[in-house]
Amino acid sequence: MSPDVSPDVLIVGGGIGGLSTAYALTRKGLRVRVLEQAPEFGEVGAGIQLAPNCTRILDHYGLLDEAKSLGVLPASMVMRDAVDGAELTRLDLVDLERTYGFPYLVIHRSDLHGLLLRACRRAGVDLRTSQRVVRYADTGTGTGARVELADGRVEEAPVVIAADGLHSVARHQLIGDQPVSSAYVAYRAAVPIEQVDAARAVDLSEVAVYVGPGCHFVHYGLRGGEILNQVAVFESPSALDGADEWGGPEELDAAFAATCDAVRAGVPLMWRDRWWPMYDRDPIDRWVHGRIVLLGDAAHPPLQYLAQGAIMAIEDGWVLAEHVARRTGPDGAVDWAGALAAYEAVRPEHCRRVVLTARAWGRLWHLDGLAREQRNHLLRARATHDHTYTDWVYGPTALTPEDEPAMFPVVPLDSVDLAPAGTS
Ligand SMILES: Cc1cc2nc3c(=O)[nH]c(=O)nc-3n(C[C@H](O)[C@H](O)[C@H](O)COP(=O)(O)OP(=O)(O)OC[C@H]3O[C@@H](n4cnc5c(N)ncnc54)[C@H](O)[C@@H]3O)c2cc1C
Repeated sequence: MSPDVSPDVLIVGGGIGGLSTAYALTRKGLRVRVLEQAPEFGEVGAGIQLAPNCTRILDHYGLLDEAKSLGVLPASMVMRDAVDGAELTRLDLVDLERTYGFPYLVIHRSDLHGLLLRACRRAGVDLRTSQRVVRYADTGTGTGARVELADGRVEEAPVVIAADGLHSVARHQLIGDQPVSSAYVAYRAAVPIEQVDAARAVDLSEVAVYVGPGCHFVHYGLRGGEILNQVAVFESPSALDGADEWGGPEELDAAFAATCDAVRAGVPLMWRDRWWPMYDRDPIDRWVHGRIVLLGDAAHPPLQYLAQGAIMAIEDGWVLAEHVARRTGPDGAVDWAGALAAYEAVRPEHCRRVVLTARAWGRLWHLDGLAREQRNHLLRARATHDHTYTDWVYGPTALTPEDEPAMFPVVPLDSVDLAPAGTS
């Protein structure tokens, strides 16, 4: 798109949500401009997991083969108890691909972001950096919205999409709620495999998740096994004490002191110069305000326990673009009111389920005492090929509320009676 042409859509934020949505809408014939505050497009962090509900969309975009060439297709996901290292349950990811038709892929964030950036460039998205948006306004006439930039300039388009992340300016302005602190903090590392002690015998064919009291640890291979990606998450004592700054590296080692050898061997490799205090937000069901639209973490930031945050952002863009295409006339005019209503009819409910389930899943991971044993019992009882707990999220992304799959049945922990036979 030529910089002189006025856009059909302005997207604020060039993260995974903003770029994937820009690509989705451009494929449908719209002129899209992305305004990113950073001086360069990029992603900070390490690996990211992409479940079949995301790889299905990447395939639809013609980007899956490139993603596969940059990422790793693990054979299984294994959950273990972080205290004794014992296996609790396992997802066979080869079988998962057979069931859902698309693979479970792990990839470096910068590789996924770079892939989307290249796709946007090829498609002609107008990509602009050093553009910090400070204010949003609906024109009030049902014809468009505008944004004000930090340098005082104003940009306007028929639709403005706020994909500006957890600390979204649009969310602050339109909803006014605050991120919710979990008191947990994430440390990350992406380590060349040569630096990993061979004695650890890390199996790069699996995504390993160790769950423990107040902490968990994840690792998997990236870039064809050249890199080991690690995530270490724990409940910060200083956060619980109400400190403003919390989760610093002085808390990291103590948090994992009582875990098994496999976990403790990974902790010294974590990056200690940067950490991610973990916040989400309470779900909201209004994402469309006139012609201003919330998308991605701006609309539904989750805790990362289901590894669905970036995926939901990618799904948002795909759903919106499909509804735009269904409501584009032969002259190219889009029925925006209809398309935005269809988007808002289906996405907030799905994302509400993910955000709330992620909180519950996190609580389950971090249990101690009897509850930990009850959880372990339930997880061990799950059959490897049982997909009851993934159907609601890994199946095809719903375009309408009627397509949204049913939730899984909840099994209460206290339904597990661990008393020795004859004593209960
Ligand atoms: C430890 C951890 C592990 C995770 N693992 C996974 C996983 O395995 N799978 C998964 O799907 N998700 C995962 N997530 C979640 C995922 O990272 C996020 O949900 C996703 O990156 C959100 O993308 P986004 O584009 O909506 O927001 P962001 O990535 O936050 O992008 C927002 C963009 O907007 C820009 N911006 C912000 N404000 C302005 C402004 N005022 N003007 C202009 N530009 C602005 C920012 O610079 C940024 O580029 C994980 C998260 C964490 C913390």
